[in-house]
Amino acid sequence: MSSVLIDPGQTANTAKDEIANIPGVSLETMDRAQVMLVGSANMDLVVRTHHFPLPGETLQGIGFQTFPGGKGANQATAIGRLGGRVGLVAKVGADPFGDQLIDSLQLSGVDTSSVLQDSAAPTGVALITVDDSGQNMIVVAPGANSLLTPKEVDQSLSGAQFSVLLAQLEVPLESVIYAASFAEGRVFILNPAPAREVPNELLCRVDYLTPNETEARFLTGILPSDDATCLACAEVLLSRGVRNVLFTLGPRGSFLANETGGRHFPTIDVATVDTTGAGDAFNGAFAHFLASGEAIERAITLANIVGALSTTKNGAQASMPTLEEVLSRAL
Ligand code: ADP
Repeated sequence: MSSVLIDPGQTANTAKDEIANIPGVSLETMDRAQVMLVGSANMDLVVRTHHFPLPGETLQGIGFQTFPGGKGANQATAIGRLGGRVGLVAKVGADPFGDQLIDSLQLSGVDTSSVLQDSAAPTGVALITVDDSGQNMIVVAPGANSLLTPKEVDQSLSGAQFSVLLAQLEVPLESVIYAASFAEGRVFILNPAPAREVPNELLCRVDYLTPNETEARFLTGILPSDDATCLACAEVLLSRGVRNVLFTLGPRGSFLANETGGRHFPTIDVATVDTTGAGDAFNGAFAHFLASGEAIERAITLANIVGALSTTKNGAQASMPTLEEVLSRAL
């Protein structure tokens, strides 16, 4: 396995001194984050119906609920629930949903000093309809997420001290590419979700690419269904510059591949009720355990447990397990 040095202690005093001189940046805040995320924050608006409406039809919904969501916020929440030090670079609207998302992140222990509020667009929302069979239809209006600029990413990351950088693809690609310029000397994990094209200029900066089965097939044309197909799929991604590919395979666990070969990591058996957010739980946990100094294999094993436990409760952020719950299954 190619060794990626993780040094949570790389917060040198000299860098700290420099940070102390940046206007508006407090040492207390910056000392907190070990994982920095660049990603999305949405409010999920959920209505249940017996069946989906046809075009032009109006239906009576059964209930309405709001849930904080967005891959960036979900993954940051997963880390906060594990007791990790985490900061999120994101953009929400200057509106009540934006306020609620920030409050909810703070309640989970996430440093929100880089969650920006912008009055030029509303907070991103996902309009979700769930029918009696449990199927869903989702329309996402990204709103303020699409306004997160490379310059703002620069302002948020350049003073920050962190050992692991985690990003997804729900904010503008140019901002993710810009964030990747902070990968040097750190571990950069890219969760390529939702599935979209990723240029080699970004892939070649990635230490761990973490696609699920759908995203892996989108990127390579190969569905990773067993060890052989995981290796074939990884070969394509490694040839594009990624250092390690870490596939998430639902109840089959995960598979790590790099230039020296591959290894399957089984997950634990759980009573699954809702798989929403399992990938986010896994990604947040993997980043957190790497930043905490765990060996790669142990970080993957623990991330599998976090992903599995997150499926035993409803919702995305509400289902993220605590460290205690994880360790009770990790013995
Ligand atoms: P996504 O939500 O992005 O599709 P996955 O479904 O692959 O991601 O789930 C992420 C991780 O969560 C898996 O690698 C696995 O460790 C764990 N997981 C997901 N579903 C289950 C399940 N039904 N049973 C046990 N573990 C699961």
